[in-house]
Amino acid sequence: MSSNHPDGHPFYRFCRTALADIRTQGRYRQFTPLAREADRYPVYEQEKAPATPATPACDHDREVVVWSSNDYLGMGVEPVVMDAAITAIREHGAGAGGTRNIAGTSPFHTALERELADLHGKEAGLLFVSGYVSNQASLQTILTSMPGWICFSDRLNHASMIAGIKGARGSTTVIYEHNDLEDLEAKLAAAPPDAPKLIAFESVYSMDGDISDIAGTCALARKYNAMTYLDEVHAVGLYGAQGGGISERDGVADQVDVIEGTLSKGFGVHGGYITASSEVVEYLRLAASGFIFTTALPPAVVAAALTSVRQVRKDAWRREKMFERVNAFRARLRKAGIPFTMTPSHIVPIPVGDAQRCRDLSDRLLNEYGLYATPINYPTVPRGTERLRLTPGPFHTDEMMDQMVTALSKLMRINAPVDVAQKIAEP
Ligand code: PMP
Repeated sequence: MSSNHPDGHPFYRFCRTALADIRTQGRYRQFTPLAREADRYPVYEQEKAPATPATPACDHDREVVVWSSNDYLGMGVEPVVMDAAITAIREHGAGAGGTRNIAGTSPFHTALERELADLHGKEAGLLFVSGYVSNQASLQTILTSMPGWICFSDRLNHASMIAGIKGARGSTTVIYEHNDLEDLEAKLAAAPPDAPKLIAFESVYSMDGDISDIAGTCALARKYNAMTYLDEVHAVGLYGAQGGGISERDGVADQVDVIEGTLSKGFGVHGGYITASSEVVEYLRLAASGFIFTTALPPAVVAAALTSVRQVRKDAWRREKMFERVNAFRARLRKAGIPFTMTPSHIVPIPVGDAQRCRDLSDRLLNEYGLYATPINYPTVPRGTERLRLTPGPFHTDEMMDQMVTALSKLMRINAPVDVAQKIAEP
């Protein structure tokens, strides 16, 4: 420990105690460095099967198959996407060189903002350095713009939305039960009719894999004159005819005021964004601290993201391939009697229900089978609902799926709590 305080500042003692507690609770998080080998991924040409055996293999002293990636479609290792980044670095350098307003805007930035606005059928788009920042900065800025805002926030909203909502001093927050429109309506009805209102919610909830009723939420928003702010982070690229998310799939994008997304998951690169009407986007561009006072995304990252978005919009087969793989994996789990939560999305949670057991299961998958599946524990999910969160994708072959199913059935019989073990034993 290095400190200017020979007897130790109380914060150092606090950290030591807090870390010891986290360890005791089985929640200590360790990094698992994974060197993704981009040149080993198969190149998909339309629906054709890859010529080489598919592998999302990574190097962790040996080969590891990753089952927890958020690069859902593998766009981060798509050659055209990587080439776009390499070309842009050669032509424009490694960094942006400034904030968006001070020398940091490249033609890629403005082109990507137009592309994203078009994807969601909105007038304008605005890039942020990450999805987290796009939520935090946009919500905080909107909710401090006028006096008296009331934000109706789904109980399971992501930490980045909560950060923006909590950071909006002077506004009021009303939390409604997760995906519960009756509760939302009761709370909207109880609020002062003239207060400016915003409903903040997600489309695909990433940990449970459930999907919200966007049309129903927007109908309530109209009835009570509320704006809607929708996080489509786990849906963009994956749902809708062009990957515009659940709002595109359900034909309701025009009913949502602000659609927020990320470039780091379905699009496989990096960065966050919002799309909305031009006055909302212009206001955030001129007022959001998290947009103004930070260096712009590097041009190469933006060039890669632009290429990825264009490609993903065109290639419906990528989405189809992913869902075919998700269904194939679920069928195998079902056949093997491995408990999993059936979700209406691409996310496959395997419930474990205990932090230490979840950690052990994940460690043994990695160490004994070379399978990487992150344990999800508190504070990401409530205590007692710890789980493995698996995200099958286009690169998971039948063989890899068999390997995961075999490993899980062996390990879960040992690790699972009694009720889960009994479930496994059932045919
Ligand atoms: N919203 C949700 C629902 C998320 O799950 C995440 C990240 N996991 C974010 C926003 C933040 O996105 P990014 O990773 O691009 O910062």
